[in-house]
Amino acid sequence: MSRTDDKKKKSKKWEAYEAKGGELKRTKKSCPKCGGGVFLAQHKNRVSCGKCGYSEKLS
Ligand SMILES: [Zn+2]
Repeated sequence: MSRTDDKKKKSKKWEAYEAKGGELKRTKKSCPKCGGGVFLAQHKNRVSCGKCGYSEKLS
């Protein structure tokens, strides 16, 4: 038993999260007003920013 085992479990969680984020990245656009770190929420035919309220129609 070692403390490194605990750390490994935590990093595995991160991997799963990052993989999920990678999938979403394909469709998610970043907000032109807030910058690259803020992603637009995907709706049926538009995307919107939860931070500044910017929205964009998808064609
Ligand atoms: Zn924004």
